[in-house]
Amino acid sequence: MLEELGSLSKKELIKRAKKFSKRYYVGDGKKFKLKDYASKPKMNLGPEDELLVKEALEIGVEALAALQDILYAQDRWSLLVIFQAMDAAGKDGAIKHVMSGINPQGCQVSSFKVPSQEELDHDFLWRCQKHLPERGRIGIFNRSYYEEVLVVRVHETILNAQKLPSKLVTKDIWEDRFKDIRNFEKYLARNGTVVIKIFLNVSKDEQKKRFIERVDDPDKNWKFSVGDVKERGHWDQYMEAYEDMIQNTSTEESPWYVIPADNKSYARIAVASAIIHALDQMELEYPKVSKEKIEELQGVKKALLEEKNEK
Ligand code: ATP
Ligand code: MG
Repeated sequence: MLEELGSLSKKELIKRAKKFSKRYYVGDGKKFKLKDYASKPKMNLGPEDELLVKEALEIGVEALAALQDILYAQDRWSLLVIFQAMDAAGKDGAIKHVMSGINPQGCQVSSFKVPSQEELDHDFLWRCQKHLPERGRIGIFNRSYYEEVLVVRVHETILNAQKLPSKLVTKDIWEDRFKDIRNFEKYLARNGTVVIKIFLNVSKDEQKKRFIERVDDPDKNWKFSVGDVKERGHWDQYMEAYEDMIQNTSTEESPWYVIPADNKSYARIAVASAIIHALDQMELEYPKVSKEKIEELQGVKKALLEEKNEK
């Protein structure tokens, strides 16, 4: 299947990418169950497939870059791609590889870590709002306001430190946050920002393997923090929180994609496909130039051609 990709037209590639992304598209999340989505890709990829996978990703990135060029030129829509995952699922690598072919002027990446005191003095969407992509741009969020229903839900102490008036902290707080997030994304959609959300679904076993690699490889030591192992201890609570979050915030307009992340290369191709799918739905086209403008351009060309060479 992969060998054929090199000779395909852009249109055909986009069609295939869209079809591929559908495997991981949740759409309306009401019936979502995490157990229906695997961490391992169905396709069995061995080391001998490495070159083919690399080529497929390159071609995918090229198709994505072509769409982004039109997004930028048209300057009407914007796309926000949110990445959420457990540690070592490959968020950073996926972002780096998938966006590698893109015009850097048209793309911005924002990472959201533990909130600062200033950020805690505001509502939870405030810090993310400041980083929303402008029209014509793709914005990437490496973690996001979804942490508010993940890490904050798993650790009560974080919620308690959020300086919310106690009257507002009730058993309905997660439902309320889901509602706020849905409304926020609806608001963005109505203003021309399409939001898609990607959950890199890594298995607990694969995470263990990657953590050990981070300890064994001196070049990866910097990526490892002891706190990550502590979070791993809350794995089941996180999975429950992810499932509930996706059930409550995946919509056709602003879908979650649950991507198998145990194979990094495969995950990157799936991510590129999801972004291609979202861009393609915008029905992008280069701005049309008026007849008068075309005539004017032709006049300029003629003048340039007739220009006498300056000695
Ligand atoms: P890396 O791959 O480098 O580890 P990372 O995204 O895990 O990248 P870290 O600095 O290790 O970056 O971790 C950021 C931490 O901030 C995560 O543990 C995340 O859960 C936490 N965090 C993000 N948003 C919030 C929030 N709103 N409240 C509390 N903690 C948050
Ligand atoms: Mg981390």
